[in-house]
Amino acid sequence: MTVARVIVDVPSRDTDRTFDYLIPDRLKGWVEIGSRVAVPFGPRKLQGIVTGLADDADVEYTKLKPIDDLLDAIPPLSKELITLGEWISKRWLCPLTIVLQAMLPAALKGRSEKYVFPAEGAQWSDEETAQSGGLLLAFKKGEPLKLTWLLQQFPEQGDLLKRWLRQGRLEERQKVEDRLSVKTVQTVFPSEPAMLLQAIEQLPVRAHKQREVLLYLAEHNEPLAVLKLTEAVATTSSTIRSLAERGWIEIRSITEDRDPYANRDFPATAPMKLTPAQSDVLTPIQSALDQGGNETFLLHGVTGSGKTEVYLQAIQRCLELGREAIVLVPEIALTPQMVERFKSRFGARVAVLHSRLSQGERYDEWRKIREGRAQVAVGARSAIFAPFASIGLIVIDEEHETSYKQEESPKYHARDVAVERARLHGAVVVLGSATPALETYEAAAHGGHETGLGDTIYLSLPERVANRPLPGVSIVDMREELKLGNRAMFSRPLADAIRDRLEKQEQMVLLLNRRGYATFVMCRSCGYTAACPHCEISLTHHKGSQNLRCHYCGYAEVEPKTCPSCESPHIRFFGTGTQKVEESLAETFPGIRVIRMDVDTTTEKGSHEKWLTEFRERRADVLLGTQMVAKGLDFPFVTLVGVLAADAALRLPDFRASERTFQLLTQVAGRAGRHELPGEVIIQTYDPEHESITSVQGHDYNGFVERALVLRKQLGYPPYGRLISITFSHESVPMLLSTGERFASGMREKAAALGIRNDFDRGERTALEVLGPVSSPIARLKDRYRFQCMVKYRGDVDASLLVSQALEEMGEAVKRNGVLVSVDVDPQMML
Ligand code: ADP
Ligand code: ZN
Ligand code: ZN
Repeated sequence: MTVARVIVDVPSRDTDRTFDYLIPDRLKGWVEIGSRVAVPFGPRKLQGIVTGLADDADVEYTKLKPIDDLLDAIPPLSKELITLGEWISKRWLCPLTIVLQAMLPAALKGRSEKYVFPAEGAQWSDEETAQSGGLLLAFKKGEPLKLTWLLQQFPEQGDLLKRWLRQGRLEERQKVEDRLSVKTVQTVFPSEPAMLLQAIEQLPVRAHKQREVLLYLAEHNEPLAVLKLTEAVATTSSTIRSLAERGWIEIRSITEDRDPYANRDFPATAPMKLTPAQSDVLTPIQSALDQGGNETFLLHGVTGSGKTEVYLQAIQRCLELGREAIVLVPEIALTPQMVERFKSRFGARVAVLHSRLSQGERYDEWRKIREGRAQVAVGARSAIFAPFASIGLIVIDEEHETSYKQEESPKYHARDVAVERARLHGAVVVLGSATPALETYEAAAHGGHETGLGDTIYLSLPERVANRPLPGVSIVDMREELKLGNRAMFSRPLADAIRDRLEKQEQMVLLLNRRGYATFVMCRSCGYTAACPHCEISLTHHKGSQNLRCHYCGYAEVEPKTCPSCESPHIRFFGTGTQKVEESLAETFPGIRVIRMDVDTTTEKGSHEKWLTEFRERRADVLLGTQMVAKGLDFPFVTLVGVLAADAALRLPDFRASERTFQLLTQVAGRAGRHELPGEVIIQTYDPEHESITSVQGHDYNGFVERALVLRKQLGYPPYGRLISITFSHESVPMLLSTGERFASGMREKAAALGIRNDFDRGERTALEVLGPVSSPIARLKDRYRFQCMVKYRGDVDASLLVSQALEEMGEAVKRNGVLVSVDVDPQMML
């Protein structure tokens, strides 16, 4: 007898293990690892995923319940994806069921449905039948009916229904069902033309329409949707059905894909003749593919250097070798423009997965992959789980993007998952970026270190194709503007440039990357900003308590009334949004046409595309927005990029703030002058000497990172150390403090017991330090206070294990008190 080990869909740490179920005879040969099943769980029916099959005598078979149902003929997950899921679950300390759910398309997140049917031998009087108002008649066919459907159809009959259920004359049954099913189309399959012509002879004289249908099918002798046929011949479906009844044609249900790109033409493109620089980077990638080697490459290429063409030709080689490819791009870069480049090259072999598709569309794209009809998956973060069987290549474009890290559970990073998945498949990984993450750069330049990325081969494209120059970057010191009496948002050079482009009818991209709540403190006279003396991280203004705080170590100081540096009274708390800029543009440049793109203007499905199309068609002069406008866009008439406040992101209490700023500014600068017209970039700042900004001006990535890495090393931050953040939340602050302190001391004891010192500065190979508990940057959320601890470590220590042990030891008490715990391994956002 065989037993299935099932991960049941109850997302909780207590049920984070498999449960055993018997495989009934009828399902033998069907249930595999990766199958989705419906199982009884207590009083409920739940969905589960089979993660193992057992055949051992240890199992007490009599105690086991059988699996109720198999939910798909082809298992949606594979053995390999389950293995990957287990790795993710361990790596990011997250229950396996949550990981497996994240791997499935939303349409397959089963829900349980209740069905009602008459009990065996139940009888009803004529009077009762009449009283039921059609309810009992509905059961005539003998099939169980959905409870939700019954309640809709017979809203008045609720009492009767309940009474009969209680009496046992009606019975209830639960079934796990998909939220969505495949779309089917009634399709006509005609016989041979000769047969059809014969059939016409046999028709009664007056059957004009039937004759027309047969004639049409004799002429167009191929399968055709019933609806299309009724349109073509202007007849009804009953005419067509009557022909089917006589056996001259056949009608069958055919599944049809909901294709989100059905109405778009993608003119085929041929591979371009590569530049020598492109060939040089493609060659090692292709030979790794040819040899079936598991290698990771960093493709470091400036904006417009032709990285995408390299991806395309690498994918082509991968397909020629009979293997499959995954391409990840940041969600906001998944515009039709990007999709088009892949569709045009590989046509129907491409499946596209992103969150702006409807659930049905996404499900159908996913099925194309699962059923082997697509060999290339292009998508956002979760496309890393594309259910391919034999992956040869995984490309991650803009690999430094923060959106590759999921911020809710499972908090995986797609880059790390890609490397692990490639290892399981013996595949090649290409990480592409103009501004690689410091972790990736470090792995490529100096070997793996702490990052977990492993050895990475460095490839570079230092110039744009066709000798196009990188745009000139000028920096405007906003303190000087203020001295000259200009208090407007736009400096004189930027305002002049905007006027100039309006005159020439060229286009502009304006960036204001202001995260809503994070106010920062700055002196308008000298540009002083408040930073933590221990962490080199800017302090955050807390309005309520009137102080400035460090979100890392808890350092706090009183809110200054005058500038501590120059004693000017012009010390301010800043926070301007894109909306204010839009108003100001309209006032300053009458008649200017602005498209504003930020979270607020792009909630609707398709709005993103709509704005970009409008801009492409030059129905606006300015594309204004948050970082959304900085990524992946390619517009030939954009000749000016303006950054309104380059410092905004620098003030975030995050040790990656300057790295992010440099990346963002480089990205947005790369939008200018990509075609014939040369580009210009103007960056407004209060901190014109800051490395993140001057390095953008010099297009000096390598210099910037080498300097940034020195600082990271001193502080023991990634890539020279790793972090785990643990956030506790509760209504009461004392409760949080004591919980946080118990955790911190528990961790310290564990480390000490292993002989691991908490002293990072002494340069020991292995070190672990517990910071906090301190109030989280978001100190209160949904009426709960939040405190966090940060574990910083390096070297030979399994810190994740220690964290989960420490949490487990205090588990019962924490749960009893209602403290919620959330763990983020290798966090990307410190907020
Ligand atoms: P990146 O992805 O590095 O930003 P792209 O792949 O978008 O760069 O390339 C920039 C531009 O150069 C595109 O318009 C692309 O069509 C063009 N291009 C790329 N490779 C070549 C080539 N080998 N010959 C001619 N044009 C090219
Ligand atoms: Zn000052
Ligand atoms: Zn600090």
